[in-house]
Amino acid sequence: MITSPFDFVTARSAEQAVALLGEYGDDAKLLAGGHSLLPMMKVRLAAPAVLVDIGGIDELAYVRLDGDDVAVGATTRHAAVATSAVLREQVPLLAHAAGLVGDPQVRHRGTIGGSLAHADPAADLPVALSALGGRVVVQGPAGRREIGADDFFQGYFTTALAEDELIVEVRLARRPGQGWGYEKFTRRANDWAIVAAATVGGRVSLANMGSQPVRALSTEQALASGSGARDAAALAAEGTRPGEDMHGDAEYRRHLARVLTRRALASAGVAD
Ligand SMILES: Cc1cc2nc3c(=O)[nH]c(=O)nc-3n(C[C@H](O)[C@H](O)[C@H](O)COP(=O)(O)OP(=O)(O)OC[C@H]3O[C@@H](n4cnc5c(N)ncnc54)[C@H](O)[C@@H]3O)c2cc1C
Repeated sequence: MITSPFDFVTARSAEQAVALLGEYGDDAKLLAGGHSLLPMMKVRLAAPAVLVDIGGIDELAYVRLDGDDVAVGATTRHAAVATSAVLREQVPLLAHAAGLVGDPQVRHRGTIGGSLAHADPAADLPVALSALGGRVVVQGPAGRREIGADDFFQGYFTTALAEDELIVEVRLARRPGQGWGYEKFTRRANDWAIVAAATVGGRVSLANMGSQPVRALSTEQALASGSGARDAAALAAEGTRPGEDMHGDAEYRRHLARVLTRRALASAGVAD
């Protein structure tokens, strides 16, 4: 459980982080909260020669109103997302999901940018971003670009980020007063989701039902055609490809997807 040797450099700004990624190339990996990367390094699933520490870039730690959006800086910790008064009022689904990540220690170290970049299909923030139709702002040598949630996640632990880019911000449309639901099923407190369902504004996304957050498109179409929660949720597992592990087989996960989607829709105010 000891990492391979690595060098450690600290970036003080997003520009400096991009420059360091350019300088070290494939050998470098960004380090934010370290709560996904360091466990992987300890079992040698990752062995970067250089860690570029961005966790202390204060200019990327914020939650603020920006026009029709709420903007969340990439190094904002899960605990700050969960307790942000702005998010709890404007995008409560994201704040709620962040409050369910791991335990307090994880939430006080882990960052929103790290969680999205890590792209674990069982994680809470990627599925919340997918349901919210949020956008990820990334910065590279050529400047900034914005990537929608549907394009950002590309498979198991894989995103649209280029190797010389970092996430600098997450943008979410303001939704004060809009109904939403988030249902996470775990065997033990603090675990990753066996399955989770997130919904807001007619979008429904599922965690751990495929290699990335999966939109329950049949459910969304049924809702758009006027179906109630029960009938729409019955379609939630259509088109999904859940894996199998010691927590449950694929059919069990499909069952969970239907049940959790119905509960999430009920929380969002969609009648049966
Ligand atoms: C015990 C435990 C329980 C957990 N439980 C849950 C859970 O229930 N739900 C859940 O969703 N997660 C859970 N997590 C994961 C947690 O949310 C991590 O904090 C998160 O996945 C990674 O964020 P980080 O800031 O720690 O990233 P790091 O570990 O520092 O980095 C993760 C990856 O993202 C890259 N990266 C980091 N920041 C950026 C950036 N700004 N731009 C581009 N790339 C970047 C890194 O290079 C690395 O590849 C748990 C972790 C632990 C240790």
